Amino acid sequence: RSVEALDSSVPRPHRVQDRLTDTPTASPGPFANTPDTDPSTAANREWGRLVLARAASTEVGAETVGAGVVPGPVELEAIVQDARAAAQPWHARGAADRARILHEAAAALGARRGDLVSIMAAEAGKTIAEADVEVSEAIDFANYYAESALALDVVDGAELVPDRLTVVIPPWNFPVAIPAGSVLAALAVGSAVIIKAAPQTRRCAAVMVEALWQAGVPRDVLRYVTLDEGALSQSLVAHPEVDRVILTGGWETAQLFRSWRPDLPLLAETSGKNSIVITPSADIDLAVADLVKSAFGHAGQKCSAASLAILVGSVAESERFRRQLVDAVSSLKIGHPDDPEVTMGPVIEPPTGKLEEGLTTLEPGQGWLLEPRQIGTDRRVWSPGIRTGVQPGSRFHTTEYFGPVLGIMHAADLAEAIAWQNATDYGLTAGLHSLDADEVNTWLDAVEAGNLYVNRGTTGAIVRRQPFGGWKRSSVGTTAKAGGPNYLTRLGTWHPQPLQP
Ligand code: GLU
Repeated sequence: RSVEALDSSVPRPHRVQDRLTDTPTASPGPFANTPDTDPSTAANREWGRLVLARAASTEVGAETVGAGVVPGPVELEAIVQDARAAAQPWHARGAADRARILHEAAAALGARRGDLVSIMAAEAGKTIAEADVEVSEAIDFANYYAESALALDVVDGAELVPDRLTVVIPPWNFPVAIPAGSVLAALAVGSAVIIKAAPQTRRCAAVMVEALWQAGVPRDVLRYVTLDEGALSQSLVAHPEVDRVILTGGWETAQLFRSWRPDLPLLAETSGKNSIVITPSADIDLAVADLVKSAFGHAGQKCSAASLAILVGSVAESERFRRQLVDAVSSLKIGHPDDPEVTMGPVIEPPTGKLEEGLTTLEPGQGWLLEPRQIGTDRRVWSPGIRTGVQPGSRFHTTEYFGPVLGIMHAADLAEAIAWQNATDYGLTAGLHSLDADEVNTWLDAVEAGNLYVNRGTTGAIVRRQPFGGWKRSSVGTTAKAGGPNYLTRLGTWHPQPLQP
């Protein structure tokens, strides 16, 4: 059994200044996470087969995608103005009414679990297990932010005046949970929202939005758009009447947005280069299982993925570790998720640029423990790669590749491992496998990342239990974590009471 995961709410010296530490938190009471679909029952496995069989042919979401096409700047301007106009009545309904609708949204998302899973398999190449947990996470965001908004209504004699118009720019790698979380947070505080779907996963976002409309979120309060033209995206993000942009994507994208509008109120969760340190005291069975899941879940396409294993001391020489790692990775079944046996699906697009380099090019001194190969005729399907001999300061040490390739580093001791773990521009997740309490405490005090996980993988943060967010270049404009008690407090401006004259 894994030790309960720890996040960075553990008291420790914070080297990154939280600029908003004075704002109240909105912490709801007891909260129950939504269970995932249990694959141990025959009925659920049959459900999974049916859902995946439908994935190739399903048309769900297509109508919303079509209706979301914005022909040009005139139409975009009208959407912005209509959404702004709809914000005030939405806010005026009050927190309790909005919370009720968000709880309805949780139910509506649950009712469309099958549609959401099949569309994630079709558009994003997610396996049923990866897609299923994402639906649960979206439901958790709805319930958690509903309760948080109630707790936030009036806190410590101050009132949050919400942003009037929020633009959500979600990624394709969590095409349901991340757009849902961003949209639901803004709706919970009383903002109107325009969501621009990620081009690769338009129908995932569309079906999520349909569920929210069905739950009672007015269509003018939540607008779904697909923007093909870069110029339109730029005018939406840079629009002076957009009060906030919630972005999940690359750090470079956040910088681009800032170049478009320097004063842009931006709340962005960005890139990561995450590692798991494994010390000689670790439970090797657990460490290998967690490493493989963290490195190759969704083919490594998670900001939270572990793309480095830093082996301390004798672990580096351990034949047992090496054999177990190779066995575990070799036992992954690679292919398309419409086959329910598949445990690692394709990457989103045929690899080019950085990812192609990561999958094909070794640096001096590196070797392949497992060399990645393209499988079959689909250029998106790759077997997982493991490269050895990654040196501190090398390109692989510090570059985010966002795909199924893991690098191995050898550190003399824990201090060296921590130094290498910190020596990247990013600070999103970090893992430690150790059964030694002193090592754990040393590590917790020194690691510069938002989500610290001890004896657990680095992916799959769970709403409320592991609020998710990073340091350094892993976040821009916020230190609040998604799915945690501070997130909603950043979506507006704090005013002392009484607000009304
Ligand atoms: N929240 C996700 C996790 O904990 C990662 C989100 C991302 O990749 O942006 O795995």
